[in-house]
Amino acid sequence: MENTVYISLGSNLGDKQGNIRKSLEKIGESPHCKLEKTSRIIENSPLSSSNQPDYCNCAAKISTSLAPAKLLEKLQKIEDSLGREREYKWSSRTIDLDIIYFNGEVIDAPELQVPHPQMHLRSFVLCPLAQIAPSVKHPVLKYSTLEMLEIVRGRSFFNENHNPRLVCIAGTIGAGKTTLAKMLSAKLETELLLEDYQNNPFLPFVYQGREDLALNSELYFLDRSLQQLRRTSLRPDKIYITDFLPEKSLIFPKFWLNQEERLIFYEQFERAAINFWPACLILHIKCPPEIYLQRIEQRQRKIESRLPEDLVYRLSEEYCRLIRNWKKSPVLEINSGYADFRDQNTISDIAEKVRYYLK
Ligand code: ATP
Ligand code: CA
Ligand code: CA
Repeated sequence: MENTVYISLGSNLGDKQGNIRKSLEKIGESPHCKLEKTSRIIENSPLSSSNQPDYCNCAAKISTSLAPAKLLEKLQKIEDSLGREREYKWSSRTIDLDIIYFNGEVIDAPELQVPHPQMHLRSFVLCPLAQIAPSVKHPVLKYSTLEMLEIVRGRSFFNENHNPRLVCIAGTIGAGKTTLAKMLSAKLETELLLEDYQNNPFLPFVYQGREDLALNSELYFLDRSLQQLRRTSLRPDKIYITDFLPEKSLIFPKFWLNQEERLIFYEQFERAAINFWPACLILHIKCPPEIYLQRIEQRQRKIESRLPEDLVYRLSEEYCRLIRNWKKSPVLEINSGYADFRDQNTISDIAEKVRYYLK
């Protein structure tokens, strides 16, 4: 039994746990398969927004002498024997048996794709898989199960390719967001939306210490980003990469605004927020604050060189907090450290991962 295979099992009709146990038994009884390990059964809400019953999910490791197509056939026979009916995509089912990994192979045939093409977006697959294969790596993404689980933060997502897709790059001042956004959008041939930094008429004064203009400056950024990222500004067939995450607007008022101004700003933000098109992927650039400071100094945007060191540290902490609590989309952490976003190999590697998460 030379092949090592991981399988995901799901059921949301009838005796859900029983269906999973029976499927595992049937796999184990096959002369060509040996059941090596199974996870516990975990309960999850359904992925689609329909009012389906909750799911039970499980993962199993098997060894088998069957080739991939034969194994799929075998699993489909087991599904049929347990009364699986195929009504419509993602309809309720007595049992669903998917091949997650087959050795480290990448298979892209019409009837079988391995690794399973959505597994990296689904906590209901990754959670049980993490119990039996925490450090097994995805052959294309090169992420371990635990790393992929971290990226989706216990949520499950699906891509809606008929809508505009927005990839937001987040990270504190000086992290290299604009360079990364430009390089990635060139590499992936996407649209590029840059934060309107240059034209904010209030910003230079704010950096010079004119606190009375800070609210205007923040409202200007909010208004500009809303113009860029509202649904009607985005075309459904396009992918957009931005060098800002609109929600970062919630960080700066903590530092620049007094309490009354903050209340005004948050009210305005709340009103604007419902009109922002949601990001389907966040890239968070993480690097030590010393490096931010170095970068800020290097590019010598005059207004920024006045930023006190402790402010840069606190901003970077706030950014990390915002991203840590982010639940609305997967988050890829980019450990920029000393990495150079002008380097083609670095960019190709990030671009491949972004492409995979958008497919
Ligand atoms: P999803 O693929 O989003 O999990 P599903 O499991 O509900 O959806 P099914 O109706 O069970 O979809 O299967 C549809 C087809 O998917 C099957 O006929 C099978 O040929 C194909 N398929 C492609 N890759 C795999 C895989 N890795 N494991 C199982 N089936 C696969
Ligand atoms: Ca499935
Ligand atoms: Ca399936």
